[in-house]
Amino acid sequence: MRKSKFFIVCIAILICCLAVILCACNPDKGGENYSDGNSKDDGTQEVHVHTWENDFTSDGQSHWIECESCGEKKDIESHELETQNDSGNCWQICNVCDYQTELSRHIYHQKNDENHHWLDCKNCHYIKNNFPHNIVIHKDSVGHWSECQDCSYKTSEIRHTFTTKNDDNKHWQECNDCGYKKNNERHILISDSDDRFVWHKCKNCEFSTEKKMYTIGLEYLFNESTQTYSVTGIGNATSSEIIVPSKINGFYVAEIAYNAFYLCENITSIVLPSSIKTIDFAAFSDCLALKSITLESSITNIEYDIILGCTVFESINFNGTMDEWRAVQKDKDWTGDVESIVIICVDGKLNKDGSVIVE
Ligand SMILES: [Zn+2]
Ligand SMILES: [Zn+2]
Ligand SMILES: [Zn+2]
Ligand SMILES: [Zn+2]
Ligand SMILES: [Zn+2]
Ligand SMILES: [Zn+2]
Repeated sequence: MRKSKFFIVCIAILICCLAVILCACNPDKGGENYSDGNSKDDGTQEVHVHTWENDFTSDGQSHWIECESCGEKKDIESHELETQNDSGNCWQICNVCDYQTELSRHIYHQKNDENHHWLDCKNCHYIKNNFPHNIVIHKDSVGHWSECQDCSYKTSEIRHTFTTKNDDNKHWQECNDCGYKKNNERHILISDSDDRFVWHKCKNCEFSTEKKMYTIGLEYLFNESTQTYSVTGIGNATSSEIIVPSKINGFYVAEIAYNAFYLCENITSIVLPSSIKTIDFAAFSDCLALKSITLESSITNIEYDIILGCTVFESINFNGTMDEWRAVQKDKDWTGDVESIVIICVDGKLNKDGSVIVE
């Protein structure tokens, strides 16, 4: 009996100890709305119930809920910032509380893509002045590229793609894309004729002159050794403008023979093709109405007195340069008694003696 009595006393003591320990370890007495009891003067304890504010309190980094009376904070979290802007400024607001940063003016950087350039705020990416590039094409001897006059946009250089082009006087190579031109050269004209027409085509490009009917009825002589024809007389031709073909019966007409047009008083002009290499002596002498002879630059030899007695003669129309005319082999008396004539070359006018006429 004594043993069991002692055992009961021990259990009772143990329960008392547990109760004391439990009280000491749980000061809030069950609930977060309670704080430590404040000691009062009389030694009793007062229980504080937090009064949480409805709205968040915040600083530059975070927001929280604060107790109105004791200032304790709960739910402290960093702001959830979102960028806002208008045409002049950008700022940030918190999605959770009403925190807002100060407005700051946009800070612009120029940006571009293939088609446009614009100003972009480095903080909020607000965009203004979005315009198409103001493109100018630049070129050098190798290729072409585009640059915007208003921003730094620039394409890489692309090689020219050339096509041969021409006008009445010249041919050249031109870039299909940028118009860059090179190898601008005068046509090298070669005469050709069929059984009715004579025309010129360029040796180096597609250029071809209009076909002109040549004079029918002229007299010719075939030279067996050179396999070419000479024009020996006007025959039954009546036209005042004599146009000589470059080929007869498939052979070149290479020469105007001596005295060929002697005393042909109706002729006012003579047009010779590029096949003509030589004008023999007195070929057009005493043509009293003759004013001009048109010659190609392929002529090589002019004998004496070719226009002797041609009292109204004015000009040689030479389809070559002044230098090419000077290189033609000419007898010193090639004009006979005609002194004042003009040689009209493609690049200027010359006197009979080869000096330049300054206009
Ligand atoms: Zn409180
Ligand atoms: Zn916030
Ligand atoms: Zn901005
Ligand atoms: Zn641009
Ligand atoms: Zn080009
Ligand atoms: Zn040409």
